Amino acid sequence: MTTGEPPRTTPADGADPAGPVLEITGLDVHYGLRRRRRQALRGVSLTVAPGEAVGLIGETGSGKSTLARAVLGLVRASAGSVVVGGEDVARHGPRQWRALRRRGVVQYVFQDPLRSLDPDLTVEESLTEPLLMQGVPREEAADRARAFLPRVRLHEELLGRLPGELSGGQRQRVSVARALVTGPRLVILDEPVSALDAANRVQVLEILKELRSSGVALVFISHDLGSVAGVCDRLAVLYQGELVEVGTTHDVVNHPRHPYTRLLVGSAPTLRSAPADRAEREALRALLRT
Ligand code: ADP
Ligand code: MG
Repeated sequence: MTTGEPPRTTPADGADPAGPVLEITGLDVHYGLRRRRRQALRGVSLTVAPGEAVGLIGETGSGKSTLARAVLGLVRASAGSVVVGGEDVARHGPRQWRALRRRGVVQYVFQDPLRSLDPDLTVEESLTEPLLMQGVPREEAADRARAFLPRVRLHEELLGRLPGELSGGQRQRVSVARALVTGPRLVILDEPVSALDAANRVQVLEILKELRSSGVALVFISHDLGSVAGVCDRLAVLYQGELVEVGTTHDVVNHPRHPYTRLLVGSAPTLRSAPADRAEREALRALLRT
């Protein structure tokens, strides 16, 4: 130890902590077989650095959830690679996925919290389960779950409740807590605020912004540019299965290049001082239909 450099710490999973947490290259995904076969993603490449929040936006059917599913091992890639925490998962089988999930590298939050929460587990059980899966002793897991609650603005008295006994906003905050309580490197959030009313949406967006200080990387998927712009450093725009634009949030919002991005920015006028006028929007719509 003569250089005085701090020792380089390597996480237990052996991944390079400075390397990207997610590196998608040339990803193709198809659904269906033979004549029904349809391509949902075409040549998608996207890199997410540690601690970075990337917003993935696009209209319904553009392939956003398919990209989330490919990163979480829920659909198979027909071409390309998906490297999560240094490990190429594109052709992982169920056993390898289980091992990766147990290590807690990547977690998820879905639009409907009832899909990310087991209806038969209490809030306390939902929050301790991912910690127990990683071998954290029961008492420590309970302490960590309890200590996490203020970060998602939930009260301790909810610990004994089942998801069905919570409001939609509370449920989604439990899903967020469950995804983050283990300290994953990457969380994929697929339309996490789309089903919430305005007040709850604002609150969850605030919580996500605050949680970023823990160093977690986020891929925040939404059809609503306004929701992601306040949380994310960069935006990636998906249009008909292809990424048509990637840039800093500031650049994409202020200097959108692709016609579809201009349409998105134009229909979220609060983001820009000079909203696109109606004629321009109509022209862009017409262009996109061709
Ligand atoms: P988004 O999340 O952006 O709304 P999706 O990723 O859900 O879009 O869907 C992308 C395309 O793939 C759509 O055309 C959709 O109809 C199709 N698709 C999605 N899931 C399936 C599936 N399980 N089987 C067949 N086609 C699907
Ligand atoms: Mg979707």
